This record gives sequence, structure tokens and C-alpha cells, in this order.
Amino acid sequence: MFDDWITEDVHSVLLVEPNFPIPSKSRNHKNFLPIGLLKIAAYLRTKSIRVKLIRLDDDDLNLVDGLKLDDFKNLSDKLDDFQPDLICVTSIFTYWAKYVKNTVSYLRFKYNGVPILVGGIYASLMPNQCKEYTGCDEVIFGIVCGAEEVIPAYDLVDVDYQIIHTTRGCIRRCGGCGVYQIEPEWLCKKSIKDEIIMKKIIFYDNNILANKYIENILNELIELKKAHKISYVESQSGFDGRILRKKPELAKMLKKAGFKNPKIAWDGPYKSWKSIKKQIDILVDAGFNSKDISVFMLYNYDLDYDELESKRVKCFEWKVQITDCRFRPLDEIKDNYSPHKRNGQTNNDYFIHEKWTDAAIRKFRRNVRRNNICVRHDVDYHSSLLERKKIPQEKAKIFRESNYEEVKDKLPDAWSPAIFHDVDEQDYFKYVGGT
Ligand code: SF4
Repeated sequence: MFDDWITEDVHSVLLVEPNFPIPSKSRNHKNFLPIGLLKIAAYLRTKSIRVKLIRLDDDDLNLVDGLKLDDFKNLSDKLDDFQPDLICVTSIFTYWAKYVKNTVSYLRFKYNGVPILVGGIYASLMPNQCKEYTGCDEVIFGIVCGAEEVIPAYDLVDVDYQIIHTTRGCIRRCGGCGVYQIEPEWLCKKSIKDEIIMKKIIFYDNNILANKYIENILNELIELKKAHKISYVESQSGFDGRILRKKPELAKMLKKAGFKNPKIAWDGPYKSWKSIKKQIDILVDAGFNSKDISVFMLYNYDLDYDELESKRVKCFEWKVQITDCRFRPLDEIKDNYSPHKRNGQTNNDYFIHEKWTDAAIRKFRRNVRRNNICVRHDVDYHSSLLERKKIPQEKAKIFRESNYEEVKDKLPDAWSPAIFHDVDEQDYFKYVGGT
């Protein structure tokens, strides 16, 4: 239990985000904020405990060849003379376990004798493995209850949005999803209006529409929007399509409340397309632009490339974008997939499902990227040569004003999103690295 570690001898706590491979420009992106640490920071402050947050990057810990204990200048600057009585390290994906392990090793070296706790998603999904592998003193499983009651310490980061959970857990048990393990209890808040301190709100709920008080929450947001107290709202997860279909009026409320970029999931087979189309229609009827809607698609899982590619073509027909999610087993602790490997990779590098191949994975990713560009720009073909400005300006202008039928025999890499594309090894080796 986290609270068992907060004894009267604890006056200073160091909160650490390992050097996950997140590009520096995305560090403060709404998908990567270490919100758990910010909540713990605020919680500890209610107990008059000093906190310091450090967010490591590759300049701090060089992990390419393992831990190098003699090269920590940047990190020492970040830590200055802070002397913690307790250290809390967060974790995200299981396949980023090595970053947590190396961070714990370094902190152990630097602060010998100071207890180190590891929490977060990886720690909660694989507590025993995490404790043994990282060498931490204790794994903190799931959520820290006291930290749920406070406004996170946003002053420790540089963001112009806040993150809110109206629920914890999920009412469903989809295959391949770890939410049930991490947040086994289904909890719903009735009101969130008193938590709002910024104009941009990002909901981290796993299934916000399943909140039994969702109408109340949305009405609060609508009132706040009318009063110009909020300007932007987004749900990081998709909306539950079955609930949308049962209560289509929720889509109108989402629109009125200012939600942007709505997402739904299409994890089922191609033949379920009519149900997905109805969900999209509900969002479009509520006033959302189809090209702002995105469909989550899990690939490298039990549906093969042909089925996913058929679904992609359908999404183009509907002019919606796709958010592709490559499946990794929940207990996978490494993932060395690289989009830049010209000769491809194997199962030794990353998880490849038996129904998939490395070529199919790269091809599908590339198709999705081109599909989304075409949807966003409202065009019916994509060309890398045009995108990379490899065509003389005059000619490029003519191509840009032409449609696929007009350019397909003139532009060698013109690619139509409306067509089913096979996994073509030639195309794969030609373009691998371009995704
Ligand atoms: S609805 Fe989403 S969060 Fe809930 S179990 Fe399914 S995948 Fe997980």
C-alpha cells in the first residue's frame, strides 16, 4: 500500500518519469503526461511533504548499451541537491520495462538506502515480474486512492490542459485489454465541475459514455462552455459504440459540450461494418465532420491483413480517419520494432502475430498513413514523390489539381485509398522505412 510508505520520517519525495522513448516534442503531449505522479505530488503536498518531479530523457540515461553510471551530468543538474526520503517511479507500457529497470538501477546507485516504489501500468499488469526485474522495493498496484481526491500538481509541468477521469475501470472485458487488471473496480463520478481549472480538458476515462451519470457530466460541460470557462474537450479513448447506438442523443451533447476528434473502435470483423457505419452516422448527424472522426483498429491480432485492409477501404469510403493500434501481448516486456529497418524485422525483434508478417504490418501502417492524409486533405490519391517535393513545381501543380484516374498512368507511385492493396513484397521493400 502506498500510504504505508508515508511515515512521519518522510519529508521529501522524488517523483521520476523514466526516459521512455517519447520524442521530446511529445513529452507534454496529452497522451504522455505522467498524470499519476502529478496526482501523487498533490496528495503528498496535502501532508506537507516536499516533492520534486524529474522527467528523464536520453541525455540523462544512455540506455543503448545498458546503464552507464559515469555519464550523468544532465541528470545531476536536474536533481541538484534534493535529498529524498522516498522515490516513486512511474511506468507505462510493459514493453518499455527496460527503461524502468535502468532508472531504478541508477536511482539505487545514486540514493543508496532510499526506498524506491514503482507504480503505473506495467507495474500493475506484472507486479511480481516488475519487482524482481527492476529491483524496486515495492510495486504499487492500481490507483492510489488519496491521490484521486486532489487536483493534480500541474505546476510541475508545462501544459495548457488538464486531465480528468470521470470513471475508473470499464464495464466491458474486451480481449487483449488490460484495463480490468489495472482498475478492477468500476467507479463513476457524478460531477466534475469543481475540478475544472483550465480551459482545455482531456478525459482519460477508458469508457466515458458508460458513466451512469454521463448526462449530468455532459450538462455540466455544456454550461461551462456556454460560460466560456472551457474551450476544448477531448476523450483520449474511443466512445463506446454500443452505448452511442442505444443513446444517440449523447452524441449531440458531446458536440454541444465542445468535444473534438471523436473516436470509436472497430475491433470486430469486416462484416460488422453496418454497425460501425451507424455509429459514424450518429456522430455526423450530431454535427461532427467525418474527417475529424477516427476509427481505432487493432491489427497484428486475430484478424489478418486482408480483413484489416478491407476495413480500411470502408473507412475511406466513409471519409473517416483510422488510428491503428499494433497489438502486443500484455506481458510483452520488449518491443524493438523500428519503422526504419530497410530489410525488415522478425519475431525476435518484436511480436508478430501468427496471422501477420513483418511485411503485412509495415504495409498496413503505410496504407493507414496514406489513407489518413487523403481523408484530411480531401483528395483521392497519395504520392510520396509529391509529398516529398520530388516532382518539378510546375508539374506538381498540375498533378495536385488532378484526380487519381488522371494521374495513375503518369505518376509512378500514385496510390488510391479507395482500392484494396495486397501485401506486395516489391512495394514493401521499396517503401519500407517510409512509414
Ligand atoms: S471497452 Fe475499451 S477499455 Fe473497456 S475493456 Fe474494451 S477495450 Fe478495454
